[in-house]
Amino acid sequence: MSERSQSFNGSEKHVQVIARPRPLSDNEKSQNLTSCLNVNETRREIIVNCKTSTTRFFNYDHVFGFQTRQQDVYKVVVAPIVEEVLKGYSSTIFAYGQTGSGKTHTMLGVFPIDKVSKDTVGAYMSMLESDAGIMPRAIHHIFQGLQRQYIDYTVKITFLELYNEELTDLLADPTNEQPEKIKIYEDKDKTNTIIGAIEAPCETPFDAFKILIKGAQRRQTAETLMNASSSRSHSIFTMTVTMKDAQGDVDLAGSENISRSGATDKRAREAGTINQSLLTLGRVITALISNEKHICYRDSKLTRILQDSLCGKTITSIIITLSPANEAETLSTLEYGHRARSLKIRPEINQLSSKDVAREYLDEIRRLRQELDAK
Ligand code: ADP
Ligand code: MG
Repeated sequence: MSERSQSFNGSEKHVQVIARPRPLSDNEKSQNLTSCLNVNETRREIIVNCKTSTTRFFNYDHVFGFQTRQQDVYKVVVAPIVEEVLKGYSSTIFAYGQTGSGKTHTMLGVFPIDKVSKDTVGAYMSMLESDAGIMPRAIHHIFQGLQRQYIDYTVKITFLELYNEELTDLLADPTNEQPEKIKIYEDKDKTNTIIGAIEAPCETPFDAFKILIKGAQRRQTAETLMNASSSRSHSIFTMTVTMKDAQGDVDLAGSENISRSGATDKRAREAGTINQSLLTLGRVITALISNEKHICYRDSKLTRILQDSLCGKTITSIIITLSPANEAETLSTLEYGHRARSLKIRPEINQLSSKDVAREYLDEIRRLRQELDAK
């Protein structure tokens, strides 16, 4: 462990909030819509030229320009966090913004999904040059780091969707009519654990990349079938990394890099379908900032899942994505993000508990048995 990570351990920090506006789309331009946003990257400021009131200014930990490339978002926001994950910290990165503001673009981005089944390796290699988002880049970075630093590691992925307070496993076989129920279980020490989700083991970045694509495709197919846009669903991609130090005397463990994509949807609220998760998330943030005694995490699944990321030992960043042509929704996202900047976290390095070690060994024994049986 480096001195830097030791000094970082346990010290109080704030949730980092990063703003990413997207450019006006061709469609918006053809409707003669104009941008209500200006960006001052050096002052880390978003300026909203309001039609109905005075100009508003919002500051964040980082503000991107309209044309910022995917690799630069990764380099500035995610790469430093992944380095911390490789030292043993947990991290959560989530995207928050109205429908069509760029959450999927930022998290997943564009990469050649259709090519992958035919040519996975080729698609993987070209991905880094392409418009790929945070998740595939983080997979690449994490495996590079692990292969560089650790002799022994395991990586597992879960990929869930939360829709109307129901958790669905994006990695489960969709033809299975009775899939395992996913539950959130609260431990004695009040930490929430998700049970029943498929934990897909990955030995190589290719494995992880294929799982990411599989889950993303399932999400797309489900949306098309339901004839619904992703605006009311949240997807939660979790990588759990267990690593053993090269010297063999320290067990660094249990880090995860989680990307979470949230959504705000005015139409859903207007139609009366209240997005319980997002409303509760807003309430939890307000309660945490005003130091209230009771925090209503239990009122939605999203806040239960995010509990540790909002006030715990996890390094958390929120990327707010902004549509330049929609003043009202953009202002609400900007205000949400501004409040979230006051959230305090206390990142701590994870250690394997003896229970975890025992579980790891049992898994290993089971794996070796299977290998023997197969011979
Ligand atoms: P969301 O997931 O928030 O609903 P999307 O990520 O699907 O929104 O983005 C909506 C559209 O805008 C897509 O066509 C996407 O390619 C485009 N887009 C989003 N962000 C950017 C960006 N930063 N630069 C260029 N195009 C973008
Ligand atoms: Mg989306």
